[in-house]
Amino acid sequence: MASFPTLPVEILHHIICHLDPISLIALSQTSAWLRGIIHPIRHDFNCRLLALELLPEHGGIVPLFRGRDNQLTPSWDSDEWRGNKYACCGCMKLLPHMMFDNHAILRAPYRKPPPGSIEAQRAGMTDWEPLQPSIRWKHIQSRTDHDREEQRIRRAAVSDRYRELVAPAGQPFARVSHDRAVAAEEEAERYLCGASRHRRRCLECKYQRGDWSKPGAQLGNKEAPIVVSRQRDFLRGWERYFTSLLVPLPPDRGPRTWKVYGVVSTGSPWTLYAARCPCCSSWHELSAFRQWPDAAEYRSRPEPPTSPLLCNDCHLKTHKSPTLLTRELSAGLLSMLRADQANYFRTLGYGWSTINRYFIHLNRSSLNRAGDFGPPHGILELAKCKSVGEEILGGLKWANILKDRIVYDVSNLPDLRRRLHRFRDFMNTELDEPTLAGVMDNNWFMFWVEDYELVEENYHWLQDVIDSIEGRPNLVLQHVQRRDPYMYHISGPASASR
Ligand SMILES: [Zn+2]
Ligand SMILES: [Zn+2]
Repeated sequence: MASFPTLPVEILHHIICHLDPISLIALSQTSAWLRGIIHPIRHDFNCRLLALELLPEHGGIVPLFRGRDNQLTPSWDSDEWRGNKYACCGCMKLLPHMMFDNHAILRAPYRKPPPGSIEAQRAGMTDWEPLQPSIRWKHIQSRTDHDREEQRIRRAAVSDRYRELVAPAGQPFARVSHDRAVAAEEEAERYLCGASRHRRRCLECKYQRGDWSKPGAQLGNKEAPIVVSRQRDFLRGWERYFTSLLVPLPPDRGPRTWKVYGVVSTGSPWTLYAARCPCCSSWHELSAFRQWPDAAEYRSRPEPPTSPLLCNDCHLKTHKSPTLLTRELSAGLLSMLRADQANYFRTLGYGWSTINRYFIHLNRSSLNRAGDFGPPHGILELAKCKSVGEEILGGLKWANILKDRIVYDVSNLPDLRRRLHRFRDFMNTELDEPTLAGVMDNNWFMFWVEDYELVEENYHWLQDVIDSIEGRPNLVLQHVQRRDPYMYHISGPASASR
């Protein structure tokens, strides 16, 4: 198509003004004549890229983030995040979300704007005008200044509304309504959300710009920056470092654990970190550098590396020894698995001193003494208690005279399980309701009694896994080379997709 000979240019201008940013660039690329009329500038290419990131087939989902309680929908762990991409207006690419730090995609001005927001409406139509590029640029600048002022006013309105929430003087416990403040915040979100997306930069563009050289900006060093990234839920530490390598036991086969904030049975959040390999200049999740923490420090923030970081790929290219890499990888995994297994083994020995104390109380008939430790009521015969207590505890090896822990090894596990079953039978068949409630009025002990077999099952399962890793260490290398797309596929500048 050389031209639109039958169409007056004024009408053509009018049509072009109503295109969306993606069609504007597409039309400008159909012929030299149209390119000469449209004359796209960098701003138009930015708008096209920012419109593309809102299309599900190019950018994936538009997550919703509520700033006042940090609620993200859908969560980082959902499948929808796997293919989610964001625009970088530095290198002009749509990149996987892992190529951006948290601020670059979660702060209100940099988020993808949800439907109904001002920015989402703008992304649907070009702001192209039939003007000389220099004059257009001045228009864009003055519109940007106007938008900035509008955003400042909106933010100030939200602050004012929240200031009104302070209780009146002399009435510190007066009820105040959050409704107006929340309404102002939601209204401001409509204007702020995504309004500065054109300033969003990926990890690599920020590196090239020197952002990661500023003090406190990241956790690594100048040569190998380490940047805080997403959070995902994992049940075990080794899952965070070797995601999807092992098929874990299903959640209902995991024993419950009691934390300060409640029962944990489905995992807890672990922070991921993105680090730049100084050798290949690519960004990877920190796991790709074999920087394993000690088992006791699983959750600590990474320290600046003392030796140069070398990603798994560069390790292979530098040392040319798959055997060496395999050894390092499997040693890291095995030490985590063994630490986990040792934890289960210790757990199997926890409850015996508590059972011993219950039977001391039962045998002395001292059940109702104020402040005493033990069940609140007792209707059992002393002789019966003594014989059952002997059946459950007799012959156990105690570590000291206080009998606060037992001494046992793997060969004792079947015997311990038999004793535990006897204790459970005793509770269920021979204790009255109030006494049983008193015995189990302790969360960790209740979980220990009820989930004992699950703990033992996990202990044996981990032993099987350890045996299989020791027998086939290449499994770990093959897994790392396959690269889990979510954990490891953080594209560097050379392989970033458009
Ligand atoms: Zn970039
Ligand atoms: Zn590398």
